[in-house]
Amino acid sequence: MNNRLLIIEDNEQNMYLMRFLLEKSGFTVIGAENGRKGIEMALQCKPLAILLDIQLPEMNGYEVAAELKKHRDLDEAPIIAVTSYAMVGDREQILAAGATGYIEKPINPETFVAEIIDYLPKKQGVDHAA
Ligand code: MN
Repeated sequence: MNNRLLIIEDNEQNMYLMRFLLEKSGFTVIGAENGRKGIEMALQCKPLAILLDIQLPEMNGYEVAAELKKHRDLDEAPIIAVTSYAMVGDREQILAAGATGYIEKPINPETFVAEIIDYLPKKQGVDHAA
């Protein structure tokens, strides 16, 4: 069964924390530190979901989300924006760019995994709910 999650995040500490929490819950985590690499990995690995930072070098998260949405074979994988860049309108902008949902930083270790599971396609997400 596919339990791969792709995290696109340039901050090492955030990557470490998200990876730690998700692997502890049984997910396989694939990491990319920039958008270009993240798009490549998404196409290669067909992740269950994509966690996407907004403030990234070169390509920002809006551009990455828009690019990912062009690939029909990734349609099933929700894009979950993970960002502290919480200016008015950002939420609408990332949802308009194709994200399914939005999680705010700082990451809350108590609720993070449950929030991610809520965004997963239900038929597969159920297996991780226990
Ligand atoms: Mn960042």
